[in-house]
Amino acid sequence: MYIPYGRQSIDESDIEAVVNVLKSDFLTTGPAISTFEEKVANYVGAKYAVAIANGTAALHAACFAAGIGEGDEVITTPITFAASSNCVLYCGGTPVFADIKPDTYNIDPADIERKITERTKAIIAVHFTGQPCEMDEIHAIAKKHNLLVIEDGAHALGAEYKGKKVGSLSDMTTFSFHPVKHITTGEGGMIVTDNPKLYERLKLFRTHGITREDHLLKKNDGPWYYEQLELGYNYRITDLQCALGSSQMEKLPNFLVRRKEIAKAYDEAFASCDCIQTPYQKDGCENAWHLYVIRIKNGKRKEVFEKLREAGIGVNVHYIPVYQHPYYREHGYEQIYCKNAEAYYEECISLPMYPALKEEEQQYVIQKVLEFVS
Ligand SMILES: *Cc1c(COP(=O)(O)O)cnc(C)c1O
Repeated sequence: MYIPYGRQSIDESDIEAVVNVLKSDFLTTGPAISTFEEKVANYVGAKYAVAIANGTAALHAACFAAGIGEGDEVITTPITFAASSNCVLYCGGTPVFADIKPDTYNIDPADIERKITERTKAIIAVHFTGQPCEMDEIHAIAKKHNLLVIEDGAHALGAEYKGKKVGSLSDMTTFSFHPVKHITTGEGGMIVTDNPKLYERLKLFRTHGITREDHLLKKNDGPWYYEQLELGYNYRITDLQCALGSSQMEKLPNFLVRRKEIAKAYDEAFASCDCIQTPYQKDGCENAWHLYVIRIKNGKRKEVFEKLREAGIGVNVHYIPVYQHPYYREHGYEQIYCKNAEAYYEECISLPMYPALKEEEQQYVIQKVLEFVS
């Protein structure tokens, strides 16, 4: 038996949706893409959506659309997947790390404020584990200093901040549809925005910087005509993937309910154990529960982790502070130290969390955690 920390849920209707595309005229850049984009945009409450090759490409596109370039600083959290700051480097900008809050593990608005310089252009807020960041505070800082706000919502499809869905709050929000995330397209991602100018730039970036849209062309030689206006990439997603995505969106509400149930069962099981700190939930934040992270408070994290892996439980650590990676250390980050992020990293373990996790599997995980921690 092996219980992973996360995995997809695929049913017959998902398979049928993909097979139907295989039998259709378009395998890529056909009608399934805009259908999926509309579904996600409507669900999160955004005007525009651009489906793209993966969540990392979504972040890259968002930084491009935001105009990030050489000399620009973008503030983000170290407790995230490296893509949240790599996207800034792709554009020639400089990621700056603000520490996390010790309770939510999300970026600390007060430390964002401390890290702002005259070069700061944007903030990338990551809703870690699916719990929304303190967006009112972040927006207030952004307004004061004239910054763009990008949300990395890879953990947070379906999460809510003060009654509003993540994706409806900031200049741009990105999502990932990797199989461990809330819904999957195999590989896939999306950017949502309410801003028509950003929307145009995101679409350009997805297809080499090339457009056929009349209102964007500098001239028009005829019906064959297109122009490359920017240096974009081939970051297209396929119709096969988007058909799967649309089918998965139908199940998202149930997936979220199941994730919440699993979180509650873990909370209850560990409530009376002094050695385990369960995730703190902030008022007004509805967690989408991509991850369930416990902290081992008795100094035995490594030992507990190793024993859980030996017991067939695919626990994980999310995340190593990004600036600790050799690439970052070799590129100017060797002196960076975020105190709360380091303390968190010493103690964290992500437990299995996905809708298809069976009740008896969760009971086994709980039993083993309690056994190994004591
Ligand atoms: C998964 C993830 C990404 C990247 O998504 P991919 O689709 O794997 O490229 C970016 N940021 C965070 C926080 C993630 O968890």
